[in-house]
Amino acid sequence: MMREALQVPRSEPRHDRADAIALATRHVLLPAYMRLTRSSTLRHHRRLLASQFLPEERIRAEQWRSLQAMLRFVYDENRFYRRRMDELGVTPDDVRSFEDYARLPPLTKDDLRGSAQELLSHGFDVTRLERKRTGGSTGVPVHLHQDREAVDTKAALRMRHDEWASFFTASKKAALWGDVKPPDTLRRWLTSHLYVRTVYLDTLEMDERRMLEFAERVRRTKTRLLFGHGHSIYFFARFVKDHGIGDLEFDGIISTAEMLPPEERRVVEEVFGDVVFDRYGCEEVGIIASECAEHDGMHVAAEGIYLEILDGTERQPGRVLVTDLLNRATPLLRYDIGDLATTKAGACRCGRGLPRIGGVTGRTSDVLYSADGKQISGISLLDTVTIHIPGFRQVQIVQEALDELTFLIVKDANYTPASLTLLANAVTKYFGPRMRHSVVFVDRVPLQVPVLDLQAEAGRRADAVSRPPASRITDLPMTRRSPSPLRIAAVAALALGAAALAGATEPARAIPTPTLPRTLGAFPGCEGSGCETRGGFHARAGRPTIYRITSLSDAARRCVPARGKATGCSLRDCIEASGPRVCVFAVAGAIHTRGYTVRHPYLTIRGDSAPGMGIQLDADGTQLGGPEKTLLWIRTHDVVVRGLRLRVGVQTREDNHPFLVYPGAPTDDLHHVVIDHCSMSWANDDLGSIWTGPETRAPPAAAPRESVLSFDVFAEGLRKPGTNNSRGPLIGADTPGRTAYADQMVNIDLHHNLFANNDQRNPNLRHASVRVVNNVLLNWGSWGIQLWGGIRADVVSNLGKPGPSTQATRQGFIGVGYVSPTAAARGRQSVYLSGNRFAGGPVLGWDSPILTSDSGPVERRPDPLPPPRTGPPIMPERADDLVGSVLGPGGAGASRRLDCGGRWVTMGVRDAADRRVIGSWDEPPPRFSWPITAADVGGFPRIEPIASRPACPSSSRDNSACACADADGDGIPDYWERAFCGSPTGCDPLTPSVAPPWTNLEAYLSGLAEAP
Ligand SMILES: [Zn+2]
Repeated sequence: MMREALQVPRSEPRHDRADAIALATRHVLLPAYMRLTRSSTLRHHRRLLASQFLPEERIRAEQWRSLQAMLRFVYDENRFYRRRMDELGVTPDDVRSFEDYARLPPLTKDDLRGSAQELLSHGFDVTRLERKRTGGSTGVPVHLHQDREAVDTKAALRMRHDEWASFFTASKKAALWGDVKPPDTLRRWLTSHLYVRTVYLDTLEMDERRMLEFAERVRRTKTRLLFGHGHSIYFFARFVKDHGIGDLEFDGIISTAEMLPPEERRVVEEVFGDVVFDRYGCEEVGIIASECAEHDGMHVAAEGIYLEILDGTERQPGRVLVTDLLNRATPLLRYDIGDLATTKAGACRCGRGLPRIGGVTGRTSDVLYSADGKQISGISLLDTVTIHIPGFRQVQIVQEALDELTFLIVKDANYTPASLTLLANAVTKYFGPRMRHSVVFVDRVPLQVPVLDLQAEAGRRADAVSRPPASRITDLPMTRRSPSPLRIAAVAALALGAAALAGATEPARAIPTPTLPRTLGAFPGCEGSGCETRGGFHARAGRPTIYRITSLSDAARRCVPARGKATGCSLRDCIEASGPRVCVFAVAGAIHTRGYTVRHPYLTIRGDSAPGMGIQLDADGTQLGGPEKTLLWIRTHDVVVRGLRLRVGVQTREDNHPFLVYPGAPTDDLHHVVIDHCSMSWANDDLGSIWTGPETRAPPAAAPRESVLSFDVFAEGLRKPGTNNSRGPLIGADTPGRTAYADQMVNIDLHHNLFANNDQRNPNLRHASVRVVNNVLLNWGSWGIQLWGGIRADVVSNLGKPGPSTQATRQGFIGVGYVSPTAAARGRQSVYLSGNRFAGGPVLGWDSPILTSDSGPVERRPDPLPPPRTGPPIMPERADDLVGSVLGPGGAGASRRLDCGGRWVTMGVRDAADRRVIGSWDEPPPRFSWPITAADVGGFPRIEPIASRPACPSSSRDNSACACADADGDGIPDYWERAFCGSPTGCDPLTPSVAPPWTNLEAYLSGLAEAP
C-alpha cells in the first residue's frame, strides 16, 4: 500500500524528448534485453524509486534486516568471517544492534589482498561471477567477485542515482575519462551506439586541439550530460571559459572518482550553472552516495550499502566503513575503504528518507604534463596504467619540472626488476621520450591528505591539519589545500593560456609551457609569488643550522652550533647568525626587545613551534634601537617568518614599526620574504612596510619584490599624540615621476589578512604592483584599501565591514587617491577589481558608489596582473567564505601551534588581544579613539611564560604547559620522532624520509605528518 502511494511517476527528461534512440532503447530494447537475460535490474529499479522516499526509520529497519541476513550468511558460508567470528566467540545471534555490529573488526584492504580466496563464499562458481578489481594502484590487481543478484541490484541503484542528475538510460552523454577503447566487435558497437552513447575526451591525452574537438562534438550532438573525474571537469570548465565557448549547456554533470574541491566546483558552476552532482563510489561496491537536486550533502544508497563514519561529525571527518548489503560472493563487512567523510543530520528538502553524508575527503589529483606540454590526468594514469604493473603496492607521482617525474613507490612481494621496465615503458608511452623519471622506494607514501577539523570553516588552508587515513591506497600529492607544483603548473598554464588565447576564435595552438617553480616553496599551501623560497631550508644555500631557542632574553647567548644544531640560544643568536638557519622555540612568552635586524639571507623563524601561547616580540620597557625603531627589520632575501606576534605597544619620538622590509644600504637585496600567520599591532607609523625609495640610496634593482603577507592580523595602529593617524601597513615606494622603482616592485601578494580597527592604510599601496586578495577589512576609519599614485593592483574577493569608527563619507572600503596625472596618462595606474563585497552585501562593481575617490580616474584593467614569475599563484575563494578562513580558528594571526605529535592546535592559542580584535567582527568596539599606547586598549596580553626545562614527558604530545621533549635538540619532538623513525633521535631533521620531498623538520613544522 505504502509503496504504491509513494510511487513516483517517471517523466522523460527534457533533453531526451526528441531523441528516438534514447526512447527506443529505454522503453523497448532494454526491457526486452533484460527479459532475455533474466536480469532483475528493472524490477529492482522500480522498487528503489519508491523506497528512496520511505521515512528514514523504515530504511534503517530494512538495513538492519539485510545486515542480519548477511551476518547469518557469512557465518554459515564464508570461511574468513566464520573464522573471525569464532576467534571473537560471537555468533550472528550475539549481534543485536548496529552498536553490537560496530564492535566487529573492520575489513582492511590488506585483508582483501591477503585472503581473497578465503573471502570467497561457499557455493559460488567464480567463472559465473562478475570480477571486480580494487580501485587504485594496489599492485597485482586483487579481484573480488560479485554475484548476479548483487550486480543487477547495484545496476538499479546506479540507475536511480543517475536519474537524480538527469542521466537516464541511453541518454547521450559526454565523458572525460581515461584510456577509452573504441568498440571492436559488432556487439560492442551496438552497445556503444544504442546504450552507452558517450562522446569521450581521453583524459590521458588532453591537449588543446583534442579539447576543442571534444567541445565541438558535444555541441554538434546536442549532448547535455557530462560525466568525469572531478578535476578533469574543472579543467574542461576552465578551458571552456578561457576560450569564450558560450554555447555548451548541460542539464547534469556527474563528478566522480575524486572529489571536486569547493573552489573548483565554483568555477564549474560559474561556467555551466548549478548542475553539478558529486558522486561517491568505488569499484569494490559500486555507488555509495550521491547528490540530489538539493545539492546538500550526498544520499547514501542505503538499500545496498550500510555506511559507518567512525568518530565523524558534521565538521570533523571520520573514517568511512562500508558494508555491502547485497554481494554475497565476496562479502565486504565494515570494509575500510581508506576515505574520510563528514556526517549530515536532518532531513533533506527533497523528501528522500535516504540518510546523507556531508563531504568526502577522498583522493584528489591533478594534471601531469608531458615534456611538450600535453596534459595527462593523474588519476587516469594511476587507475588505468600503474595498476597493471605488478609489484607496486602504492604509487605516488610527483612532477616538479616539465621533463621530470618522480615515482614514490611502495613495493609488494611481486616486485621484480621487470616492474621498473614496465613503468619506464608507460612513461615513454604517455609522456614521450623526453620525459625523465626516477623511482624512490619508500615504506609508505607521504602523508599529505589534509583533513579539516574544527577549522573546517577556517577553510581551505592546507596545512591547518593533516590527518591521513592509514590505509590509503594511492593519491597524487596535490590536494586542494596544498597547491603542489602540479597544481601550480596547471594554474599557470590556464593563466597563460587565457592570456594567449583571449581571441576565442583563433585557430588552435599549443598551450604555452608553464613556468614551473624550481623549489618546493616556503611551506605546503604557501600561495603567492614570494613563496618560491624555502627560507632557511633553501637547498642551494647548503644545510641549515637549527637554533633551538631556550631563552626569552633579548641579548645574544652566544650559543655555539655543532654538527648543524645549536641549543641554549636566544632569538638574537639565530637572527644575527649568517648562513641558512632555522629558529625553533622551546620556550613561550614575551621577548622585550630593542629590535632585530636580519642582514643575512636564508632564515626561517617559526613562532608556531613554541609551546603554550607562543611568542610575542614587543618594546615593553625597552628602548627600540637603530634608525628605524623596528621590532624586526628585514634587509635581505629568502626569509620566512611564521606564527609570531609583533607588537610595539609604546610611543617613541621617531616612527616605529613592527616589521620593515626595507633597504638600509645600497647593497641590500630584498625579495622572497614571507610573513605568514603573524599578528601586527600597536605601532605609531604603520603596522609594517614593504617599502623603498630614493632616500634609501639603494638602486631600484634592489627594491623589495616577490614577497607575501598572508594570514596576518594588522590591528589597532597607534596614533601619535596630537595626530589622528592610526595606520595599517604600507606597500610600495614614494617615487612620483620615478617609475624605475615601481617597475621593480612587483609580485607582492597580500592575502587572507585581517585589517581591523585602523584609521587608514588597510593597506596603503603605491608605485608598485600588488595583489590584494581575500582579505577582511573591519572598522576602518577614513580609508580601507588605499590605491594611490602609480599603483598597479589586483583587488579580488575582499570582504569589508564598516564599523562605528568608519566615517560616514568613507563607508567604501576600496579607495583611490593621489592619482598622478602623468602616471595615469601613461597607463601606469590601473586596477583589476573582482568579487569584492560588503559583509552581507552585493559584489562591488567599478561604478559602485562605495568606491571612495579623492581624485582623478584610474584605469580599469579587464584582466588581472600577469601571473607571477615564480611561486604558486593565489587561489581565491569567495569573499563570503573569508569569515571562516580568516577569522576562524587557525585563521589569521598567531592562531595555532604544533603539538609534540605534529598536530595543529588551534584552540586557546590566540591571545586576548587578537581575540578581542577578532571578536569585534560580531561585536564592534564602541567608536574607537585610536589608541596612543597599548594601555589604551587593555595593555599587553599575558603570554604565559613557559621555560624550556623541565620539558614535557617524552611520551606526551600535549605542549600546552611545557616544551616538547627533544633529546637530540633538532627541533623535532621525541614523540614525533618515535612515531615516524622508531626512536626519539631516529629522524634526521634534514633528510626527507617521512614526507618526501620535504625534509623531516619541514614535515613536522608543516603538520604534514601527524603521529598517532
Ligand atoms: Zn535530497
